[in-house]
Amino acid sequence: MNPNFLQTPLVYLKGVGPNRAETLKVELGLETFGDLLQLYPNRYLDKTQYYKIGQLKDSGADVQILGKIVHLKTVEQKRGKRLVASFVDDTGQMDLVWFRSHKWIRENIKLNEPYVVFGRVNRYGSIFSMPHPEMELLKVHQAGLKISMQPIYPSTEKLSNSGITNKVISKLIQQLFIETKADFDETLSQSLLEELKLIARADALLNIHFPKSQELLARAQFRLKFEELFFVQMQLLNKKAVRKHKIKGLPFDQVGEKFKFFFTNHLPFELTNAQKRVIKEIRNDMGSSAQMNRLLQGDVGSGKTIVALMCMLLAIDNDYQACLMAPTEILANQHYNGLKELLADMEITVAILTGSVKKSARRTIHEQLESGELNILVGTHAVLEDKVQFKNLGLAVIDEQHRFGVAQRSKLWRKNSLPPHILVMTATPIPRTLAMSLYGDLDISVIDELPPGRKAIKTVHRYDANRLKVFRFIKDEIKKGRQVYVVYPLIQESEAMDYKDLMDGYESIAREFPLPDFQISIVHGQMKPQDKDYEMERFVKGETQIMVATTVIEVGVNVPNASVMIIESAERFGLSQLHQLRGRVGRGAEQSFCILMTSHKLSSDAKTRLETMVRTNDGFDIAEVDLKLRGPGDLMGTQQSGLLNLKIADIVKDNQILKSARYYAMQLLKADPKLEKNEHLVIRKAYATLVKDKAIWGYIS
Ligand code: ADP
Ligand code: MG
Repeated sequence: MNPNFLQTPLVYLKGVGPNRAETLKVELGLETFGDLLQLYPNRYLDKTQYYKIGQLKDSGADVQILGKIVHLKTVEQKRGKRLVASFVDDTGQMDLVWFRSHKWIRENIKLNEPYVVFGRVNRYGSIFSMPHPEMELLKVHQAGLKISMQPIYPSTEKLSNSGITNKVISKLIQQLFIETKADFDETLSQSLLEELKLIARADALLNIHFPKSQELLARAQFRLKFEELFFVQMQLLNKKAVRKHKIKGLPFDQVGEKFKFFFTNHLPFELTNAQKRVIKEIRNDMGSSAQMNRLLQGDVGSGKTIVALMCMLLAIDNDYQACLMAPTEILANQHYNGLKELLADMEITVAILTGSVKKSARRTIHEQLESGELNILVGTHAVLEDKVQFKNLGLAVIDEQHRFGVAQRSKLWRKNSLPPHILVMTATPIPRTLAMSLYGDLDISVIDELPPGRKAIKTVHRYDANRLKVFRFIKDEIKKGRQVYVVYPLIQESEAMDYKDLMDGYESIAREFPLPDFQISIVHGQMKPQDKDYEMERFVKGETQIMVATTVIEVGVNVPNASVMIIESAERFGLSQLHQLRGRVGRGAEQSFCILMTSHKLSSDAKTRLETMVRTNDGFDIAEVDLKLRGPGDLMGTQQSGLLNLKIADIVKDNQILKSARYYAMQLLKADPKLEKNEHLVIRKAYATLVKDKAIWGYIS
């Protein structure tokens, strides 16, 4: 078929007028024949099964129910009339509602006869209602049961209210098959089809919409999921290849004096094997002629900073500058101070650039960067400003990347005529099973070993009612010379309330831990940067014993003497955030503790999160649970990889298919990188069509 045919606007499909076209576009994002073809059912309804009214729970379910209409009435509303039928089965009663076609319904409906109704239910208090149900007399329904699986398409309240029911969508798709003669081009090569025993694309599309049997449906699903994931992988792998071959990198070919000098004279501890391995990986990468784009994963406390520093030394040894970007001012300061200390008597110049650096100091920094006088720039987003120009930026390190967007990363690329090597460090582990497929275009290094001598943090869950006991525990720890964090949630939507909670909490702690025996710091986002720094500084120096804070301390802050982390309203935090926060303790030699405080009211997801935190310290384990709870939507990087726009596959549930798709994509590109062989032309053609579609493949990097 001419592929342009699938680009035809839906309004040209028989049965779709301008109104329907608009509704389909707004509600489901469907604009073309091709979009409709790829509107895959969410699930399939077994038409021989009926739901009971008594089992209905929430709004939004599409259900088929067998019952009788016992009563019909018209209800007057401000915005017009509606017709309401009382519909009952042996377990309860609900409403069927019509906003239009009242006359027709009144004249045709038979009271007290068994009907099969199908539609989406809404819940209003304890009453369930179904607007514009599809309905058939039971007799008719039974006579028409040719296949028992009815596809259920994605829907919205607006769609069903405007009469575009599941049945209508099914009809439109049927019409689409008629108009296109179901002549859909194959997109995979004959050898792939044979090796994986895949059914042809046209058969798969037919059976996904009109399943002939369970088995054919399963094969259709498999085929379409594989195809979808295969092309995502092709794209990621291609992108990586382009970067490796086309984008020239700055060759760091020597390991010079500074690196060696630091290694022998300044390294405050022995590197772990994982750190050594990762440094070697990065060194090889930056030594080659390709640009590095590497993700460094390492759990909190695994020692990523020293790795970053040593890589920056490599850049300097090769006469390039380096910069290190952090998501918060506190963190940038900490990196700056840490680097200054580690590099104490080496002839390396370091400066810090954040929002609160004064204009005159800023100007000096700009000049020194451009003249090349400055070797290392540490900073926040301020580093990205256009005014900040380097003489020769060779390496950009981004710490805790989840706080940065892709657009910001791309700004860094443009800070040098040839893009600098990029090292992105993150403490949010991506489940191993997913990392490769998600970051198909990045290289990945993992520090999977903590420095020796760390004691595992003990984590417990306590209810607010036990607060006094917790206070007593804090006192004991402070007596032993330790320091304590108390963290409050700060969620944008409830910011004002959250600040109040923070202040109330601060006051009660201040009462319980009075001066002069106890000193308390407080840090939150509404304070001026200087004040934050001052308070933070006091805590770092050990002048205060308790740090009351919002999540501003979430990332990176390093105070080895702090051994207790209290997280208030822990049920409101996500798993990865809890894990990040816990990572602020357990950095010294002492036994550390994390106490998760919650009220008694806990959702089942919240319970799982708390149990997971108590059970394990392993960030990868936690990431797996997080992924199961939340799905991939929040995983960093998913937006970039196109994996969120999947139409049928699910990267969590279909992980096995994903792996196989990646494997076959790699094989193919290895054998025929430009897809020039005759047998691969179908793939090449399909790929070209997809890449043209910016909506799917839009990507900045
Ligand atoms: P993160 O990976 O969370 O950024 P850091 O780089 O802040 O971790 O390191 C955490 C702490 O561990 C720091 O105090 C650092 O000095 C220390 N550290 C890092 N590597 C080692 C090592 N190989 N041996 C001992 N301590 C180390
Ligand atoms: Mg860090």
